[in-house]
Amino acid sequence: MNPFRPQLDGLKKSLIRQIFDAAPPGAINLGLGMPDLPVPAAVADAVAKEAASRRAPYTPNAGLPALRGHIGAASGVNAEQVIVTAGVQEGLFCVLAALAGPGDEILVPDPGFPAYEMIATVLGATVVRYDCGEAQAFRPTAAAIAAAVGERTRAVVINSPGNPTGAVCVEVNAICEVLRAAGVPWVSDEIYDAFVWDGQHKGFPADAGFVLSGLSKTANLMGWRLGWVLCPQAWAPRLTTVHQTVATCASRLAQVAGIAALTGPPEDLEAGVEVFRGRRDAVAALLARGGVVHAPLDGAFYAFVEVGGDDVALAYRLLGQGVIAIPGSGFGPAGAGWLRIAYTTGQFQDGVEVILGELSRWGDQKSGIR
Ligand code: PMP
Repeated sequence: MNPFRPQLDGLKKSLIRQIFDAAPPGAINLGLGMPDLPVPAAVADAVAKEAASRRAPYTPNAGLPALRGHIGAASGVNAEQVIVTAGVQEGLFCVLAALAGPGDEILVPDPGFPAYEMIATVLGATVVRYDCGEAQAFRPTAAAIAAAVGERTRAVVINSPGNPTGAVCVEVNAICEVLRAAGVPWVSDEIYDAFVWDGQHKGFPADAGFVLSGLSKTANLMGWRLGWVLCPQAWAPRLTTVHQTVATCASRLAQVAGIAALTGPPEDLEAGVEVFRGRRDAVAALLARGGVVHAPLDGAFYAFVEVGGDDVALAYRLLGQGVIAIPGSGFGPAGAGWLRIAYTTGQFQDGVEVILGELSRWGDQKSGIR
């Protein structure tokens, strides 16, 4: 018996998971977007102290008031505009569930983080991809979004700095104008906001849309699950109710960690960002030396490189060489012919060298394919 809704048949094992499952033991992991840095000591201490209290009550649904206050202060909004979630992932689910159902359209970037499409599938909403590929320099643009917005559009997901491309949106104001005129909220996934390599991060405002971020990447709290959503104050109660139905509240321990991270020495978080800045510069130099075409290395910790031909076949060949990297096709049709390299391991240089070697051999063989 298959008791599940037929719509869920669309949820297949992701290409990313398939590549991981096929990886040989000890492979250099340029596949996972997970920093290899430790949780700051002060954050771990605060959680240990909280655990030692042996008290674990629920928190308010929207999160501990102190944490909402710190997030609001850091983001330039009121505490009442902040809803604390179990990672950005849960925040995305709640926001999209609150906005769209069967018959409604959710716009997602192509290429883009696969969770957007998966959530839409679970909700029974229709996914419409907007071009975030080579023709747009991999950046979300007002023109590409305007071309995809229609009568049934209920939400437009934007991700900057972007996964898988690392590109940063430079048209925030123009995109806001398009969406305000259309009466459609933006859902801006800014989880990589601390990782912007040139200039300052420019985020979306929380006055006519939803802005999501968290501490998975910035404080290396991936598995503790802490994120948040910012939105107009009038929208917060309804979103909080949806979040209540999904999770009641984010884990108290994770929220205590969040307070410690946001009130601790800023250097604790900045040090991690600087590690990635150094790696980004090293990767940029390696790719330039290899003469590889790549998306702008604007932010996050991904390099999105052109490989031409069958990116999935190339990823399997790289596995044979002991390197995990993710084929661009795993992020949408516009990713085909590209490869995502995450520089989230200290072995990134060795891994990129292997990729460059394989690409030069591959270049000879693939000619004619593209
Ligand atoms: N958005 C993007 C673009 C991501 O890359 C990730 C994690 N890989 C998430 C959201 C989910 O993050 P979290 O751990 O906060 O749920």
